[in-house]
Amino acid sequence: MFESTTRNTRPLEQPPLDYSVCIQFLFMHLACLLVIWTGVSAVAVAVCVGLYIVRMFAITAGFHRLFAHRTYKTGRIFRSLMAFTGTAAYQKGPLWWSAHHRRHHLYADTDEDLHSPLSRTLWRSHVGWFLSRESQATDWKLITNLSKYPDLRFLDRFYSLPPALLALSMFLLGALLQRYAPGLGTSGWQMLVWGFFISTVVLYHGTFTVNSLAHVFGKRRFPTGDNSRNNLFVALITLGEGWHNNHHYYPSSERQGFYWWEFDMSHYILRALSWLGIVWDLRSPPANLFDRHTTGAHLGIGAPLGESVAPESAKLL
Ligand SMILES: [Zn+2]
Ligand SMILES: [Zn+2]
Repeated sequence: MFESTTRNTRPLEQPPLDYSVCIQFLFMHLACLLVIWTGVSAVAVAVCVGLYIVRMFAITAGFHRLFAHRTYKTGRIFRSLMAFTGTAAYQKGPLWWSAHHRRHHLYADTDEDLHSPLSRTLWRSHVGWFLSRESQATDWKLITNLSKYPDLRFLDRFYSLPPALLALSMFLLGALLQRYAPGLGTSGWQMLVWGFFISTVVLYHGTFTVNSLAHVFGKRRFPTGDNSRNNLFVALITLGEGWHNNHHYYPSSERQGFYWWEFDMSHYILRALSWLGIVWDLRSPPANLFDRHTTGAHLGIGAPLGESVAPESAKLL
């Protein structure tokens, strides 16, 4: 289904690990094993799936499309809600996340790109970079438009707070359901394991596939200077982020699925929110990009798209 690529440079050596982050990351995975003792119930799985989707949306529509790329506008309440919910994914704060992502677009698949599967390895592009000491700092020069917001600075500094509150809420929810709706067969510990630990760990790996798989497996529609790919599997599990070649070619577009058949759940939700006036000024790819589709230019017939529609990476910041 997917065409693969070969690495064209020798992987850089693994830098030293940050043991504090490694211990937290390992703890999150090991805690999932508590499921052996807590068991499972339909309501716990439903909460697990629901929190995966809600937090994935906050990462894709909030951290990525709003904070890192400014692809649409919104008010203070929705911005803070996206920031809080995205930080509850336990992938550090919105400023750290956005700075690293902007750096990725500036140096995609070069030695300066901390999570390139080409200049590094697939493993390092997936999780190794996240656990390395070199990725812990925030490049404040890249996020001057975001660091002025006190709520973002607060969440970035105390990024463990939202996940801790979520974990506590899960335990309390499970304990309440055990007491008042015992027929559901759940408990505080079971809800903690499913609603927080399992949901968060699956969310880690779902999000990380954009950095790893979507730079190795899939189709390339546009002639970007990196190895980004359009990958349906990644699009499905990340609510639309798998159209990564589209995104690298035109990063200031709110939608990443450029055609109706390119599933982009985050775009559908943002479009619905725009009808309600919660978000506005959603930025689209230029019209001639779609015009050329009808001429077959995207299939290599005629001039390549890159000649008529310049990549927007220069306007990223
Ligand atoms: Zn990328
Ligand atoms: Zn991006």
